[in-house]
Amino acid sequence: MATLKPHEPLLTADEALQRLIDGNLRFLRGEARFPTVQKDILADLAQGQRPYATILGCSDSRVPPELVFDAGFGELFIVRVAGNVLAPEIAGSLQYAGSHLHTPLFVVLGHSGCGAVQAALETQRHGVQHRARIQILIDNILPGLPDPDPQLPPSAQLERAVEANVRWTLHQVLETPEGQARMAEGRMKLVGAVYEIESGCVRFLS
Ligand SMILES: [Zn+2]
Repeated sequence: MATLKPHEPLLTADEALQRLIDGNLRFLRGEARFPTVQKDILADLAQGQRPYATILGCSDSRVPPELVFDAGFGELFIVRVAGNVLAPEIAGSLQYAGSHLHTPLFVVLGHSGCGAVQAALETQRHGVQHRARIQILIDNILPGLPDPDPQLPPSAQLERAVEANVRWTLHQVLETPEGQARMAEGRMKLVGAVYEIESGCVRFLS
């Protein structure tokens, strides 16, 4: 790992995406390879990190990205925040991953049954105000929520809102000058995904 040249990604964005897909399949089949602490890998990692993907996920305890993607030490650069929102500090972490670590793939990972998105729906529909700092978080989610559809049952409304929230975060990442510059280079990929808690399956959005 120490011999790697800077700016030289280990994988292309598509290869990185395939690795995540394969890892989730191993996880689903009960054939996960990690976590396995290998001493030689730890020694390599002391020289530096070269994660192949950056994940912006939710803090929810049921969605640990390394386990979901069957990834080991040094493979994923992970930012977790309730509702996978893009606050300034989060954007700074992503910028670091792009400009210093050169991860070719960025994934915004939402999940079914997200409590932060549910709380945002309560504010949108019923004007519910949450405790101050929680509400700041919720206010980040509100602009991306679809208009309420009274025909849909609550579970379907939440499902729709979770996906919309992932797309809203993607949209905001793309709006940053850094995001636009990286996309224009054509070597970086930004994708959205939803983890289904019931099945363990990660569904990548088109
Ligand atoms: Zn969540």
